[in-house]
Amino acid sequence: MNFKYVIVGAGLAGITMAERIANVMDEKVLIIEKRNHIAGNIYDSYNNDGIMIHNYGPHTFHTNFKHVFDYICQFTEWNDYQHRVLSYVDGNFVPLPISLETINQLYNLKLSQAEMEDFIESKKVVKENIENSEDVVLSQAGQDIYDKFFKYFTIKQWGVSPKELDKTVISRIPFRTNRDTRYFTDKYQGNPKHGYTKMCENMLRSKKIKILLNTDYKEIISDIKYDVLIYTGPIDYYFDYEFGELLYRSIDFKFETYDMNSYQPTASTRYPKDYDYTRITEFKKMTGQKHQKTTILKEYPCFGKEPYYPYPTSEWKNMYEKYKAKADLEKNTIFLGRLAEYKYYDMDDVIAKALECFEKLKED
Ligand SMILES: Cc1cc2nc3c(=O)[nH]c(=O)nc-3n(C[C@H](O)[C@H](O)[C@H](O)COP(=O)(O)OP(=O)(O)OC[C@H]3O[C@@H](n4cnc5c(N)ncnc54)[C@H](O)[C@@H]3O)c2cc1C
Repeated sequence: MNFKYVIVGAGLAGITMAERIANVMDEKVLIIEKRNHIAGNIYDSYNNDGIMIHNYGPHTFHTNFKHVFDYICQFTEWNDYQHRVLSYVDGNFVPLPISLETINQLYNLKLSQAEMEDFIESKKVVKENIENSEDVVLSQAGQDIYDKFFKYFTIKQWGVSPKELDKTVISRIPFRTNRDTRYFTDKYQGNPKHGYTKMCENMLRSKKIKILLNTDYKEIISDIKYDVLIYTGPIDYYFDYEFGELLYRSIDFKFETYDMNSYQPTASTRYPKDYDYTRITEFKKMTGQKHQKTTILKEYPCFGKEPYYPYPTSEWKNMYEKYKAKADLEKNTIFLGRLAEYKYYDMDDVIAKALECFEKLKED
């Protein structure tokens, strides 16, 4: 087989590159994907009850990059969903991120914007040295907010206390002194009207794009002649784990369907302290689908399953740097996307990165 461009991974990074190569350069491109579907982690589908779910966790598109939004709008229309998150604290739901609304509801107060700033100021714990993420939160928000929103949530999310996490992991608490209760305040926000998978299918329409599913690239790469390999899989796997296996935090997803119209007040609720799960998503409230039943997703963070979040400590960053140094020496391979760069990317970041990468490829 002969292809000028081969892409490993049919996630958003790989698909954006394939779309550009086919439609702008007018070149043939092969995508090799080990899963049995396209779209990577933004894959969505209808479950047995006919409700659209996000199979690898809930996704909401949000960006301030106009060029990214203009680009992706060629492939989908959007619903007008604005993401709102409620956090379950002391038996009540309060808005997240912590805003004037949150503080007033939590402490049964009627503070103004200026009074909220004074209130937070009065709670701060003075720290001579900020050494870890616990110090960051205590010094910016005080003990009670630390306990209610951060301490146990971090233990669930990362498996360790904020005390054991570098100060850069929780570097700033995004307090909002206004009454905006949206989770994201980006200019462009929503979910694709017909889902993320449909959006990806539209990106892959060109006949110049061939896709091989159910195939680990190592099974066949030696049989293919190519000029450039665009690799969006795990960087440690590419180098046969030469320096060891990079650590990821994973999530155990438990989907439940109920014979009721509505399960919870918003699409997303967080459980910073109670229960073992970190959040519950109700999909119909994100997608706008009408159905007499409803499907929810409970997320239980864990180790050892699908790689989702790069582990945010220096040990793993250092290991990644060793792989990165080797990757920089590879002549015909481009490393792109969350697994190849061992970096958490939102969807807009990954599209922006791929568009940038394509422009460079075009110039070479
Ligand atoms: C739980 C969760 C929620 C998220 N929510 C949001 C959100 O609300 N908003 C937002 O903007 N972003 C969100 N994201 C981030 C979003 O999922 C990523 O930005 C996006 O999926 C990254 O795309 P990618 O192509 O880099 O990676 P991926 O989607 O992982 O694609 C990589 C592909 O490579 C394939 N692959 C790997 N190894 C091989 C191999 N050896 N051979 C062949 N194929 C291989 C994989 O199967 C995969 O399909 C969330 C992420 C997670 C984990």
